[in-house]
Amino acid sequence: MGKFKIEKGDITLYEVDAIVNAANTTLLGGGGVDGAIHRAAGPQLLEECKTLNGCDTGKAKMTKGYLLPAKYVIHTPGPIWHGGDNYEDVLLKSCYQHCLKLGESSGLKTMAFPSISTGVYGYPVEQAAGIAVSTICEFLKWTEVVEEVIMVCHDEHTLQTYQRALNEYLEESRM
Ligand code: ADP
Repeated sequence: MGKFKIEKGDITLYEVDAIVNAANTTLLGGGGVDGAIHRAAGPQLLEECKTLNGCDTGKAKMTKGYLLPAKYVIHTPGPIWHGGDNYEDVLLKSCYQHCLKLGESSGLKTMAFPSISTGVYGYPVEQAAGIAVSTICEFLKWTEVVEEVIMVCHDEHTLQTYQRALNEYLEESRM
């Protein structure tokens, strides 16, 4: 059983076994958190990403962390929000599940996630937070490998939304 934390910060500064990158399907870099991770990791990250032949939405692939304080980066392309009737929820849950399973199978103890899809990809943060929190918390109940997962929120609104989602999840699981 692992611990779950929600913090405000910059994910590129986290000294954990793996940080998750909200990537795009090319894995060749972009804006937002993806751009920040590539800048902080240095050009070798892009070189390794070029060998991966992209990644499907909802799946995940792992690279080394290079100049980052994190040992590894798990790249996952989140769904682009198209109104909510295009399996966005299924795909977002799949992102978190694939990253967590990859962490588990790679023996990672500490992982940090950004708020996948809620930036440029336009996923409403209230809905994304509910999916992220429940998927991570359910995983942490059974894992015997991952000891800590940190949700790293970049801004105050995202932080408060994830904290509210956690409180709602905890209240519901008490009922
Ligand atoms: P997506 O394309 O999946 O929406 P974005 O990078 O545009 O990805 O945004 C995802 C989330 O990551 C947003 O909440 C954004 O504010 C946040 N973010 C941007 N930079 C960082 C960072 N350095 N550390 C943590 N979160 C970040």
